[in-house]
Amino acid sequence: MRHLLTAALLLAGTAANAQTISADTMKEVTKELSSDAYEGRAPTTPAEDKTIAYIVQRFEKAGLKPGNKGKWTQDVPLVEITASNVQPLVFSGGKAPVSLDYRKDMVIATYRVVPKVAVKDSDVVFVGYGINAPERGWNDYAGLDVKGKTVVILVNDPDYKSPETKGLFEGKAMTYYGRWVYKYEEAARQGAAAAIIVHDTYPAAYGWGVVQSSWTGPQLEQDTPGDHMDQSQAIGWMQLDKAKELFAAAGKDFDALVASAGKQDFKAVPLGVKASVSWDNSIKRQASKNVVGILPGTAKPDEVVLYSAHWDHLGRCDAVNGDDICNGAVDNASGIGGLVALAEAHAKAGPAKRSVVFLAVTAEESGLLGSKFYAENPVYPLAKTVGGVNMDSLNVLGKTKDFTLVGAGKSELEDLVKPFVAVEGRVIVPEERPEAGGYYRSDHFSFAKLGVPMLYGESGDDLVNGGKEAGKKAAEDYTRNRYHKPQDEYDANWDWSGAVSDLNIYYGLGRQLAEGAAWPNWYKTAEFRAVRDKSRSGQ
Ligand SMILES: [Zn+2]
Repeated sequence: MRHLLTAALLLAGTAANAQTISADTMKEVTKELSSDAYEGRAPTTPAEDKTIAYIVQRFEKAGLKPGNKGKWTQDVPLVEITASNVQPLVFSGGKAPVSLDYRKDMVIATYRVVPKVAVKDSDVVFVGYGINAPERGWNDYAGLDVKGKTVVILVNDPDYKSPETKGLFEGKAMTYYGRWVYKYEEAARQGAAAAIIVHDTYPAAYGWGVVQSSWTGPQLEQDTPGDHMDQSQAIGWMQLDKAKELFAAAGKDFDALVASAGKQDFKAVPLGVKASVSWDNSIKRQASKNVVGILPGTAKPDEVVLYSAHWDHLGRCDAVNGDDICNGAVDNASGIGGLVALAEAHAKAGPAKRSVVFLAVTAEESGLLGSKFYAENPVYPLAKTVGGVNMDSLNVLGKTKDFTLVGAGKSELEDLVKPFVAVEGRVIVPEERPEAGGYYRSDHFSFAKLGVPMLYGESGDDLVNGGKEAGKKAAEDYTRNRYHKPQDEYDANWDWSGAVSDLNIYYGLGRQLAEGAAWPNWYKTAEFRAVRDKSRSGQ
């Protein structure tokens, strides 16, 4: 590590004040891609063709070469499932029937590619956090047979309320076990017919509105042989107050059961009620596209440094004040702006020893599908992919004194990036809300899961102009009023100096990796270390 740090300091010194990142590029790209003409960039719609064409044009102009064997794009096979005729989710057999209406009280969907789903009189079991983690001595499914049953699951992981980031499930920091994706994976492994997560705004880190908008309307998933028949028939969420109503009807104390679910001796509890729900699906198979550009290396072109950002957003969505286009200006037209700006900066500096790949992925909003497809079908082998940086929603509020490493404590990239943060005159601060599980919520996770060290950073809240309070207020305003809403629109008054500073850091780190010979790894304690060691040992 030591010699890497010294080299980084030397390089950071020369990279300082290089002013290679263009704020104008980021503004142009963000303004263009978030205009109404792009209709919110939903994958597989006509807006996709327009978006891809624009990104290719910008990559080409920046000086990149087509990155997929002479082609600019990689096909990502997707299947789109749209639910209709959704009946209420009814729990019967308790003191009184409990009925949950679609959208208002619950959302429901399926990974299975089938025209109709019907779950009838399925026994309901409360499985706490729904976690089976043998390495932590925790199994909510111990001694339980949930085949054909409906499991009710709490969001996040057992120690999310802890003030520390230490503990069986890393304290308030969210582990992968806290993510809904994991909970449905595990429920399917256990053979559950249906898996319903109880929504709770704080541990989920987003409100019911976000669940509602992202779980209704056309749903995309990977189109794979087998049509996902190994998954549960039904997956979904229910509102917290409805869960309380359900437990009351079943004669159970919700709060007491939630408290016991946080303890290691927790045993799953059959609720003695039965669940029924049904609906129809329309199915459309269609490919979407990732865009791949490359700046080929001079000495070791087969070794690759990766930058990624997702180009997609939600498309047409629930109208607010008559506006039904979710433009996704910050999320993530800005990240594509950053990708183009980094491409320009690297191209301007000339080819490095290793190749630098710029990847604009599709269907992040549908569950990281584009990045997952690339990671599972890489154009450049992952074992030869040195590491990378992902960008999702750049800072448009101005320069900050601080810089946050999301999901810190995982890889040696965190050591390598330090000098570049220092050159910007900034300090690295802990993540404000590690319990939100930010590291598992964007495309870097698709690569990390398969072993590639990926850095995901963001500006902190401490604005150079305005300080911490103003920064926090602006960030909260974005989360509450714009995030995943039609109000995430371009604003000519945005201050891009913070994004430029963040990208100077990403440029410095990427350039150093591309000019060097280092193979930064995950720390020994990180969940992705074993898969990386295995992947690299094949070399
Ligand atoms: Zn995003």
